[in-house]
Amino acid sequence: MSLSPESPVAVLCSGGDAPGMNAFLRAMVRLGLNRHETPVYGIRDGYRGLVRAARQVEGDPEGIVRLKQEIERNTGHRGLIDAQQCIIQMDHASVSGIMGKGGTILGSARCLDFHKPEVRREVITLLEKLGVKALVVSGGDGSLTGARLLAEESNLRIIGVPATIDNDLQFTEMALGVDTAVHTLVWAVDHFIDTARSHRRVMVLETMGRESGDLARMAALASGAEMVITPEGGPMTEASMIALAEKIEGAMTRGRGHAIILIAEGVRFEPPQSRNGAYILRDAFQKYFQREGAPFQDLEVRPSVLGHLQRGGHTTPGDCILAARFAEEAWKALLDPNGINGITALRYNKVEIVPFGCPDLPERAIHSRAMEHLHDDLSNW
Ligand code: ADP
Repeated sequence: MSLSPESPVAVLCSGGDAPGMNAFLRAMVRLGLNRHETPVYGIRDGYRGLVRAARQVEGDPEGIVRLKQEIERNTGHRGLIDAQQCIIQMDHASVSGIMGKGGTILGSARCLDFHKPEVRREVITLLEKLGVKALVVSGGDGSLTGARLLAEESNLRIIGVPATIDNDLQFTEMALGVDTAVHTLVWAVDHFIDTARSHRRVMVLETMGRESGDLARMAALASGAEMVITPEGGPMTEASMIALAEKIEGAMTRGRGHAIILIAEGVRFEPPQSRNGAYILRDAFQKYFQREGAPFQDLEVRPSVLGHLQRGGHTTPGDCILAARFAEEAWKALLDPNGINGITALRYNKVEIVPFGCPDLPERAIHSRAMEHLHDDLSNW
């Protein structure tokens, strides 16, 4: 398939939002207009926007004509301020001033209907009728699975762009949003340290990261947090929690005044628990510190689940640069008549397109273990 300059390229953000999505959208629009003279359609609310637009025109022969007229009439900001308009032709001004802003001006969403092949068929038909020959999807694992299915079921050129703060996509060294989330966690740890020091406390902070502990690991390394607990370390048991508490107590005996523990949300417990890990650790630690004859019976343990604050905030220069590099590579793949459907990836510090379903980079697991080891050696005393 080759794109002619008049065929618009559609871009959407899907799943959990990640800082860098706006920077990516800006780069896609500006490169489209300035370098490739190709219009870019922004799709509102991820796959949900496409499904809504498909439903609007379904069974109405005039529907597609009206939709085209709406897109032509309400371009840029005019389209963006109308919450009902699902497809917006982006212009220079509509992406001005958004690069450093977290979230996404297009909106992101989850869309359960998109799991149904018949619904994806409706979306493919809609894009064909609009003359859209290519779709770019930025999002996490689920969104990229949806993109892979679209690629398999249509003749559209489909490019995925990893955007998820968890860094759980193992075919790329980094996804959009990770660098900013690490930055935010370092900021959070700095704030918790002040009170932990002043009150001689142990703070257990729960980070995002359901499948991967990468975010917690990087934040621990960059913030100097005393301990990091990740899903890759296997399930926590009562014995392993006591071992950690002993370690903290030992450090206190040697003169440490506080401890910050990062635990990734995906850490599992044996036997399984339904509460947040930060609270389970707090109870186990507190019980240990208050045992009879213990040296630091006043030591308080405070848990905090950091939650969605990790998703927002000003996008770091690292994420803005990665967004620009991903956009440049996405355009190359879109315009190359022999280009493949696939996902932009950072591998060995080079941006390239890898096919959907590309195997994990073996170095990722090795690197994670090495990082944890390095953190251990840096934080012990
Ligand atoms: P993320 O992309 O952040 O991992 P989700 O897993 O919630 O977030 O996926 C976002 C959206 O991607 C879903 O709401 C759905 O529209 C689409 N999606 C996810 N998994 C699939 C799938 N197996 N088949 C089709 N679409 C999917």
